[in-house]
Amino acid sequence: MSSMHYSNRQMCTGGHKTITMPCYTKIMTCDSICGKILPCGQHQCQRKCHDGYCTKTSEKCKQLCQTLRNNCGHMCV
Ligand SMILES: [Zn+2]
Ligand SMILES: [Zn+2]
Ligand SMILES: [Zn+2]
Ligand SMILES: [Zn+2]
Repeated sequence: MSSMHYSNRQMCTGGHKTITMPCYTKIMTCDSICGKILPCGQHQCQRKCHDGYCTKTSEKCKQLCQTLRNNCGHMCV
């Protein structure tokens, strides 16, 4: 009696926690919010744990700033 199903215990791609996924899963994502600091330096990524970059280089951060800033590139309050 041997199991042919191996599960892969690995750190998720976002580095949040160790998760167990079936061996056929290539991208290990957990259910946490990504939370990485965005290139703007003011906000955290609000996406679910994901592979690759948080934002495309051409894409600007659209989150609002809590305080009014000059030239930050956001839609500030
Ligand atoms: Zn994760
Ligand atoms: Zn992200
Ligand atoms: Zn931002
Ligand atoms: Zn801003």
